[in-house]
Amino acid sequence: MPTAYITHPSCARHQMGSWHPECPERLSAIDDQLHTARLFDFLSHHDAPAVERSQLLRVHDAAYIDAVEAASPREGFRALDPDTSMNPFSLDAARHAAGGAVRAVDLVMRGEVRNAFVSCRPPGHHATRNQAMGFCIFNNVAVAAAHALAAHGLERVAIVDFDVHHGNGTEDIFSEEPRVMLCSTFQHPFYPHSGADTVNPHIVNVPLPAGTTGGPYREAFSARILPRLEAFAPQMLFFSAGFDGHREDDMAQFGLVEADYIWITERVMDVAARHAGGRIVSVLEGGYALSALGRSVAAHIRTLADL
Ligand SMILES: [Zn+2]
Repeated sequence: MPTAYITHPSCARHQMGSWHPECPERLSAIDDQLHTARLFDFLSHHDAPAVERSQLLRVHDAAYIDAVEAASPREGFRALDPDTSMNPFSLDAARHAAGGAVRAVDLVMRGEVRNAFVSCRPPGHHATRNQAMGFCIFNNVAVAAAHALAAHGLERVAIVDFDVHHGNGTEDIFSEEPRVMLCSTFQHPFYPHSGADTVNPHIVNVPLPAGTTGGPYREAFSARILPRLEAFAPQMLFFSAGFDGHREDDMAQFGLVEADYIWITERVMDVAARHAGGRIVSVLEGGYALSALGRSVAAHIRTLADL
């Protein structure tokens, strides 16, 4: 069975200013690398549909969704938080990014593909139940996880967030939902300055210092995340796939490389094979050094696709 690759043209029209690192070129850098690595033709390509309001309401307050819709500008930019703004295409992009994650769950659950990568933006893991932040508008991976529970009847799903920033929005949304385990590795102390003190039986936060390279990262992941995932026995696994911990990425100070992203992918695929029939949905989060992002996503997808 193939790996699905899900995207939508609207995701390249969302822009927050020509200076902004969360830029449309991120998606073309990924696309270019998939062609260069000769992976593109081996993937099952799907358009991301717009999310339904009922799907967003599982993880966001109605008043927040209304506020985002009302903020959508006819021209220029409208700020949602100091780092996050909307242009006239952003609402459409955010709806397709969340809808793409939902489509990924449906494709995997129906057995049409083995796993899926959602190559959409804006990213999602900083978006809380009622607040946009950190380049994120709707929490795409949370929408997807909630869809797996509500629409497909799963009882346990796990999200592995390897973005260099803490997945604070995902933690906020699922802090009282024991059917969802969140495992987040992140640079600490660092933006968004959360997660290090969390005490919650189904939230596994692993703060790591600036300068963390692949060796110590893998040790921490093996010691603190893999046993918890194994014990939880999730029926589906999700990646909040952020590549801003790459050593070429100036957004943060981790020293990860492509081989580390392959290693993480393989370890989680092992868990998925044992407990989840191999079901994995990977959702793009950060990653701002364009070449490193493209290469890292290509390595991640090559691993998912077993190519
Ligand atoms: Zn990040």
